[in-house]
Amino acid sequence: MAAGKPELEVGQSRFVLKGHAVSQGAALAPALLYLPQKIEVPASYLTGRSAEEAVSCAEHALQKADGDIAALIASFSAGEAEQAKIFSAHREILADEELRQTIFDNIREENMTAEYAVYAACAMFIELLKKAGDETIALRAADVADVRDRLVRALRGQVRPSLSRLPDNCILVAHDLLPSDTASLDRAHVLGIVTETGSDTSHTAILARSFRIPALVGVKDALSLVADRQTLLLNAGADELIVSPDEAECAAGKKLRARWLEKRSAEDASLAKPACTKDGKRIQIGLNIGSDDDELPDFADFTGLFRTEFLYMNADRLPTEDEQFAAYRRVLQKAGKRPVTLRTLDIGGDKTLRYMQLPKEANPFLGKRALRLCFGEPELFLTQLRAALRASAFGNLQIMFPMVGSVDDIRRAKAFVDSAKAELRTRGEAFSENVRLGIMIEIPSIAMAADLAAREVDFASIGTNDLCQYLFAADRMNPDLSAYAQPFAPAFLRILQNILSAFKTAGKEISMCGELAGDPRATALLIGLGLQKLSMSASAVPAVKLALSRIGAMQAESLAAEATGLATQAEVIGLLIKHDLWK
Ligand code: PEP
Ligand code: MG
Repeated sequence: MAAGKPELEVGQSRFVLKGHAVSQGAALAPALLYLPQKIEVPASYLTGRSAEEAVSCAEHALQKADGDIAALIASFSAGEAEQAKIFSAHREILADEELRQTIFDNIREENMTAEYAVYAACAMFIELLKKAGDETIALRAADVADVRDRLVRALRGQVRPSLSRLPDNCILVAHDLLPSDTASLDRAHVLGIVTETGSDTSHTAILARSFRIPALVGVKDALSLVADRQTLLLNAGADELIVSPDEAECAAGKKLRARWLEKRSAEDASLAKPACTKDGKRIQIGLNIGSDDDELPDFADFTGLFRTEFLYMNADRLPTEDEQFAAYRRVLQKAGKRPVTLRTLDIGGDKTLRYMQLPKEANPFLGKRALRLCFGEPELFLTQLRAALRASAFGNLQIMFPMVGSVDDIRRAKAFVDSAKAELRTRGEAFSENVRLGIMIEIPSIAMAADLAAREVDFASIGTNDLCQYLFAADRMNPDLSAYAQPFAPAFLRILQNILSAFKTAGKEISMCGELAGDPRATALLIGLGLQKLSMSASAVPAVKLALSRIGAMQAESLAAEATGLATQAEVIGLLIKHDLWK
């Protein structure tokens, strides 16, 4: 620590808090408790002022907020696409006609003050979004709350408390962080993040990972248990926060951090090198993308999963064929000759559409989801297929179907593609006749019949998120069940083995695009089981490439053989620890 700065207080009333690591690493620093002033807006109605004056104040605030966000986006560098994306979504919220009209109606018809009109309109939207009961949509509620606070501050002429310039190194402790808190964070001084709420997919998690700041979420009552400037040791590897660690723990913490920083630089260095095992076996690295804004950097060999839900979820009606065509073409053009795997709509389950009535089901994850929903809505499915096929004229497209349970499903989906092609021919629209068709393997029934499936398709990609949930009957949205979903268990490795050997025998391409593909602790096992194509989010690539470079192909093979013969997930993890691969 720099001279003149207070030394870390060591060992005073030491205790340990547990949390859930969403970004790896370790940090040792004093706590900085972040308690942003909560914006309170009591019900208030116009007395002296005319409604039109209040409307023009609201308009001015909307404009100012938009200008501020545009300036913020412009300040991000090319490598900060993740932040820019979040704030572009904030601009979309500000431009939302329904939100704006509700604010103006609140003033004109309900006589509310501009501040209260903004607050009430946003509250209504937040309520609606929360009711959707979907994690991705709930994230949008946090965005609307962020925009609401920005608007109220603009109306009050207030400046928000900022985390962008902090004097000392610290571990930030907060209830939750708004997207703007995290995006403008002083990254030179925030060595770790601890929040009381949050999940793997919360904004805090996404941004902490992209900034590579170690972060723990779900640390209950952290704000009341930790005192400002109290020494903290955050160890994401152990999912824990030691408050006032003793001398030995501080020394160990410093070593842990030094090792992690070393590993980070090694990961950075590996990004520029080809994705190869220690003995030179080349592995293809794909990216998972979720929007047409996403770039395909040079280090990616292909797009292994293009989730198309964003087009449907960010709109208030079904996207038209032309809108979809434009978005898909953009993605294909950015990829150049590299293959882009477009996954058809995977809605239902946890993902709903506000403008479309989906059936109310007791078990939506076992319900009319993805392909099943598309079969029931032929025009919706055909529209997407026509748009995708038209885009195929502009790049190297392959189409992939989610939630395939049987060979019947495959044949039925392919028949839809034939109908879409026939219609395009009648219209005289250009498309590639050679678009490859494939499936996600994420339901155990098709995993068990992988040899039969392989005959019907050009390729497949293993969706480990759903395959794990369905194989272990453990709801992926329920954190209480995470111990039951065991992607390192022999049962899971064996099902992977079955799929991989079936596709190898059939000479068909097979890849993996679930979260496991981006987990560096799994890399050796996956390569050893025979996978040669892994697709993941961009932030996972450096660690996976480094893990690859540290294992030989033969060693990986014998490791996988040994792991599949063990009895429990704990034993497999023990094996990985023994080989220094569990980190
Ligand atoms: C999966 O299930 O592994 C997958 C990649 O799809 P999603 O997470 O979108 O369901
Ligand atoms: Mg899935």
